[in-house]
Amino acid sequence: MQKRLSVQGYVEGILSGNRVILSRAITLIESQLSQDKILASQVLESILPFSGKAIRIGITGVPGVGKSTFIEAFGKFLTSQGKKVAVLAIDPSSQKSKGSILGDKTRMEQLAHDPLAYIRPSPAGAFLGGVANRTRETMLICEAAGFDVIIIETVGVGQSETFVRGMVDFFLLLMLAGAGDELQGLKKGIMEMADTIAITKADSDNLPKAKLARAEYENAIHLFPPEESGWYARVMTCSALENAGIAEIWDLVEQHKQLLQKNGFFEKNRQNQNLEWMQNSIQQTLGEHFYNHPKVQERLKNLQKDVISGKILPHHAAFELLSIYIK
Ligand code: GDP
Repeated sequence: MQKRLSVQGYVEGILSGNRVILSRAITLIESQLSQDKILASQVLESILPFSGKAIRIGITGVPGVGKSTFIEAFGKFLTSQGKKVAVLAIDPSSQKSKGSILGDKTRMEQLAHDPLAYIRPSPAGAFLGGVANRTRETMLICEAAGFDVIIIETVGVGQSETFVRGMVDFFLLLMLAGAGDELQGLKKGIMEMADTIAITKADSDNLPKAKLARAEYENAIHLFPPEESGWYARVMTCSALENAGIAEIWDLVEQHKQLLQKNGFFEKNRQNQNLEWMQNSIQQTLGEHFYNHPKVQERLKNLQKDVISGKILPHHAAFELLSIYIK
């Protein structure tokens, strides 16, 4: 394993925008070793005052919707304006496939070579709640390293978009035209979370279908309750291949930020997200402690059998394990 730096070594490297040290700091955050966890939290503590200045954007959509192609076009648009862009990925499917699909090197090739951009896939095989917390920490470190825009990408197939919604300022849902909501595996809840829905691949033969889908989704979201912040979700069409709609989507991100900064919801949202983060951390740490308890582990197997065979109520089994843990 690579030698660790001192806290100061990491902090100075991050603050000076040193990519190599930034990557090493993220590896440190992702480490499961307890001494690394202590070092990581010291680094985080030190960079905290320098974080928070970026705009945080979550992007989700089913596999094949065009996320990586969109992020590449969107990212290039931003870097062409001199903005520094970090792309972080939360990949819940990596657990099953044992390899991060978002980590595929061929994805976002142009952006990956852009000196103003930084791309980091999530570690493979990690538990989703844990990945989400580490993505939050990685985001703070990227902010301290001077990135202006942080994009958090996730595959919209499960729980991960809720996690992402809980850590960004602006949530963009990418959708295909004509595929049907069921086919896209999307629940109404995900659409309700979106600040903007963009219909992808609005080019050549697909353009009329994309325009139609836009009208349909506009009608659908009119029925949603308005956001507390006063923002109402927009539906756009875009083509990453033709670079169409990209600037317009960025314009919405800026409009959203202006509105929410003016009425105080921008800050309020981040405060609520921090409280949620604290609660998640408590739950996660408690969970880890509980399952690592030797006596809990010893009793768990038999109780699981009893629950499966119907010998004991699940609630009673849980209570017994909790009593063992608390003792
Ligand atoms: P992801 O799985 O959501 O990351 O999707 P990808 O970005 O890998 O794109 C899936 C497929 O859609 C690829 O074959 C892309 O070339 C294609 N694609 C992505 N964006 C566009 C677009 O704007 N127009 C068209 N026509 N095809 C696109």
